[in-house]
Amino acid sequence: MMLKRQGIMLILALLATFIGLHFAFAPKAHDPRTTGTTMLGGVAFLLITSSVVLSTRLAVFEEWFGGLDRMYQVHKVAGVVALIFVLVHFFGVPKELPAGTDPALNPLVPSAPLGMIALALLVIGLALTLNRRISYNRWRPTHRVMGLVYVLIVGHFMTAPAIFFERFSASGVLLIVAAVIGVIAYLYSIFGMNRATGKRYQIETVNALERATEIVLKPIGDAITHKPGQFAFIELQGKGWREPHPFTISSEPGAERLKFTIKVLGDWTRKVREELSAGGEVIVRGPYGRFDMSKGGDKQIWLAGGIGLTPFLSSVRAMEKGDSRQIHLVYAAREEKDAVFLEELKHRANQLGNVTLVPLFSQDGNFARVDIMKTKLPDPLSTYDYFLCGPKPMVEGLVHDLRNQGVNRSQIHTEAFEFR
Ligand SMILES: Cc1cc2nc3c(=O)[nH]c(=O)nc-3n(C[C@H](O)[C@H](O)[C@H](O)COP(=O)(O)OP(=O)(O)OC[C@H]3O[C@@H](n4cnc5c(N)ncnc54)[C@H](O)[C@@H]3O)c2cc1C
Repeated sequence: MMLKRQGIMLILALLATFIGLHFAFAPKAHDPRTTGTTMLGGVAFLLITSSVVLSTRLAVFEEWFGGLDRMYQVHKVAGVVALIFVLVHFFGVPKELPAGTDPALNPLVPSAPLGMIALALLVIGLALTLNRRISYNRWRPTHRVMGLVYVLIVGHFMTAPAIFFERFSASGVLLIVAAVIGVIAYLYSIFGMNRATGKRYQIETVNALERATEIVLKPIGDAITHKPGQFAFIELQGKGWREPHPFTISSEPGAERLKFTIKVLGDWTRKVREELSAGGEVIVRGPYGRFDMSKGGDKQIWLAGGIGLTPFLSSVRAMEKGDSRQIHLVYAAREEKDAVFLEELKHRANQLGNVTLVPLFSQDGNFARVDIMKTKLPDPLSTYDYFLCGPKPMVEGLVHDLRNQGVNRSQIHTEAFEFR
């Protein structure tokens, strides 16, 4: 799915409202430097609040931003931009009270220390986030500190002397409302979110595939209802399985069993391949995502890079005969034995009639490249809608090349198998 403009526009409108109010109704006591630098601090705070609100994973935000993976991208960018504003605020804001102000009426303590601790933690937190050498499971606990950073920032401006932060000015009230919403969102993401979204399943079967594992789950109570292309977080219960991991649901909607296909990529997925057995319990949280092939036109290219097949697998399994779309499913893998479910796909393509399977094996010199795809497709590239799923560098490269071939960005939909 593409990043939708709706959510971004909402954040920009919020920032514009704040900036307008801040300049239009600035307290008389503010000099221009104070107004300007506190404006930057306020904008940073609203960006961080947006980030906190997005981490609640509420479905309404998925609708506005185009899916949970896009929400996490916005969450990250908002954090980075906020840090830039915070730094300018920190270096620019006057450190001294203007002459004649009674220090007893405007105690600087604890606003300044709270702000400085928050800034230091924010810098460390973002440096850890952007450092790709730190593995996901080591990074994740460090990111929890961001909730504390948020509370420190609220403390920073709420205890600021009135000469810097006028609580009941128009922009001050807006920041207080944002702080209340942000703190509620933070508490919800810690205490409420997991309770609201988890469903219990039992592992019925574990099937070993080539460098991957298929797990088949049977609901213990209510089952989740999903659309093809959606994903869920799975939490294997029992010692040593640690954090939840996101996987696309590869079974079709309405099927009695929920299936995930898990490629070995790191420690956790290797442990699944080597140690997981039937009988254990799993909490499944979801569904999430808006990678929705039903929103494309009559002629579609589905491009799967390796395990990026999973959203298409669910769609092909769900598709009924007579579907009016003409679909080319380009399945790129290193070699035939790596292309999991190839036989099932061939069989379904024969049954359905509207799906043409185009396997590309890099071992034979057939790469998932636009020039190679061009030779395998009957019509010009710009006449199709594209759904791309696979490793990030491959997806980004394809988007770039398709754009160069005159394909409109609105015709290209992607699923990033990566949040951070
Ligand atoms: C929306 C989405 C759908 C996905 N669907 C599938 C699928 O159907 N099949 C499949 O095989 N893989 C899928 N993945 C990728 C899968 O989540 C990772 O391969 C897996 O979590 C790696 O864990 P690891 O500890 O074995 O590897 P690591 O080496 O620790 O991680 C490899 C990469 O996976 C990501 N990752 C690791 N742990 C987590 C986590 N707890 N939460 C979020 N991301 C994490 C990080 O970006 C990391 O760089 C999907 C990812 C996303 C975001």
